[in-house]
Amino acid sequence: MIITEQKALTEIIESLKEYQKIFLVGCGECSATCKTGGEPEVLAMKQELEKHGKLVTGMCIPEAPCVASKIKTEFAKNIKALKETEAILVLACGLGVQSVKDNDRFGKTILPACNTLFGAVMDAQGNFYEKCSFCAECVLDITGGICPITLCAKGLLNGPCGGMNKGKCEVDQDKDCAWVLIYKELEKKRKLNNFKKIQTPKDFKKSNKPHKLIMAK
Ligand code: SF4
Ligand code: SF4
Repeated sequence: MIITEQKALTEIIESLKEYQKIFLVGCGECSATCKTGGEPEVLAMKQELEKHGKLVTGMCIPEAPCVASKIKTEFAKNIKALKETEAILVLACGLGVQSVKDNDRFGKTILPACNTLFGAVMDAQGNFYEKCSFCAECVLDITGGICPITLCAKGLLNGPCGGMNKGKCEVDQDKDCAWVLIYKELEKKRKLNNFKKIQTPKDFKKSNKPHKLIMAK
């Protein structure tokens, strides 16, 4: 899941200062879960924009605006409103914003209403935790399912640094050292031999941006 936070309203209004007629796009997946781009947030944004003298020409909440087919379907239902629109405000992550831009055949100005923070898992209480940094060379098989790239402040691949203190991270004393967590997990699973496997430096060519993956037909 992609985690977002809504930008300050003052920032959004400033970004819209040259535009009067605004179309709103939300997100029925991640941003709805984060409460940054679901139906309540899109309706609240409409009210705020109207209070600031804007005309909201229309709105849609595709299931996932980062998927071309979903945003195209919604745009097809809103052609009249989109033709009247000067700018589209997207209440979704940066992927959603750029997907809206890629699929907007009217060439409107596309603006973000959210800041994109990180990819995360959600616990049963609805809290979000970053667990993966998308490094393209997963080592979870060696590290007991705990990601050192993300959970270690230095992204170390071969055990803890010298600053670890009583199981806590030297960079943030409130956090457990990722490598202590990994050690305990491997001990529990009787896999401490994994510690002897030296991880070679990451091949950063694999994490060159922008990534793409062309699916075989
Ligand atoms: S090692 Fe960590 S950052 Fe890399 S793919 Fe696995 S979970 Fe993600
Ligand atoms: S104390 Fe542990 S988690 Fe913190 S930087 Fe060092 S190895 Fe990484």
